[in-house]
Amino acid sequence: MFKKILIANRGEIALRIQRACREMGIKSVVVYSEADREAKYVKLADEAVCIGPAPSAQSYLNMPAIISTAEVTDAEAIHPGYGFLSENADFAERVEKSGFVFIGPTPEAIRMMGDKVSAKQAMLRAGVPCVPGTDGALPEDPKEIIRQARAIGYPVIIKAAGGGGGRGMRVVHTEAALLNAVQTTRTEAGAAFGNPAVYMEKFLENPRHVEIQVLADNYRNAVWLGERDCSMQRRHQKVIEEAPAPNIPRRIVDRVGERCAAACKKIGYRGAGTFEFLYENGEFFFIEMNTRVQVEHPVTELVTGIDIVQMQIRIAAGEKLPFAQRNIQLRGHAIECRINAEDPYKFTPSPGRVTMWHPPGGPGVRVDSHAYTNYYVPPNYDSMIGKVIVHGDTREQALARMRSALSETVVEGIQTNIPLHRELMLDAKFVEGGTSIHYLEGWLAQHK
Ligand code: ADP
Repeated sequence: MFKKILIANRGEIALRIQRACREMGIKSVVVYSEADREAKYVKLADEAVCIGPAPSAQSYLNMPAIISTAEVTDAEAIHPGYGFLSENADFAERVEKSGFVFIGPTPEAIRMMGDKVSAKQAMLRAGVPCVPGTDGALPEDPKEIIRQARAIGYPVIIKAAGGGGGRGMRVVHTEAALLNAVQTTRTEAGAAFGNPAVYMEKFLENPRHVEIQVLADNYRNAVWLGERDCSMQRRHQKVIEEAPAPNIPRRIVDRVGERCAAACKKIGYRGAGTFEFLYENGEFFFIEMNTRVQVEHPVTELVTGIDIVQMQIRIAAGEKLPFAQRNIQLRGHAIECRINAEDPYKFTPSPGRVTMWHPPGGPGVRVDSHAYTNYYVPPNYDSMIGKVIVHGDTREQALARMRSALSETVVEGIQTNIPLHRELMLDAKFVEGGTSIHYLEGWLAQHK
């Protein structure tokens, strides 16, 4: 096992990785920007190194600064967390070329999944069901584009091969709008992702977002750890996640889960990963794969009892998976609310000094957050300041525990989206379970 790991991230996930290392008896080095000097995990760190000023490009995305910190601190491996450099194949490659272990998949796997066209092609070959669409990137020939759209049937969605974070997508309802939409998306994609390639899919009108968590080792062993429902989204950003997905017949989930584990074996995938699907009318359709730990990983940890971050580290150290699929049992129900420093209804960011932080507790309640009383939320990064996660024997109990947890939570000095979460935990449709990816935005339009 490693003696020392460098954590190349910030915020709650830096603390989460630090905790995993500590439990495993591994020393950890945190890197931080000037804006994160006051962070809890920096104060609690075995070693902490400032790698640059607040802007991410000069700190958390600064590959030479991160790699040279690993060198001077004698770290053996680098955990990239999520966001920032976590899905950057060039970074993974540079880490390995410099003699460190990248805690994640191979650079080749990251590259393949980072291009959504090649990811989809790989999944089709591996027998994972995909959204109907074009076989590869769209050609230049306008007649051919029109023909392909007709074959798929309107509405269609034009998506950037290199897209991410909900950007680089455009829905097209009629043939008249098609060529313009393709052109605009190409131009935007070229500017935003350095890759103008776009592809086309059937636009599903009312799907749910359901994803499968996988773990695979270096020896072609792979398991799937159940599913998560992440349909409660605003602007393609997840707000609430839960496991398992309510009201989907188990045999349908099992079938797709088995396909995902089989696909991992087939492509020789290694590490933790997530297969994202849209689920509509009893069918799963693959949209993309994430090759990192996800924000919502704790709901899976609570229903499986498996520590995903520790497993990432063990796999990177060359250990075999310590369990087989038959050993994986789902128990109870878990829900996660992302706590953002923002206006709960207008969603404008609300950075600043937290004058009072009182997290909830009690049976089945977990809080992953780097915040504390007097913590200053910097304006430079993502607005998420933590996650409240609950577990119960049933979904009803999990909901009751989340309501109670949210009512106990006190955050003063900044605005947060806790009032929104409190309302949603009482919303009849959400309580019933199985809302679509459009539900939250519709609810917001009606209620606010
Ligand atoms: P990103 O990498 O930017 O997150 P995804 O491919 O995962 O892109 O898509 C993000 C979101 O966009 C999905 O969760 C869903 O809400 C919507 N979406 C993507 N593809 C489709 C589709 N074919 N039909 C309907 N909605 C889609």
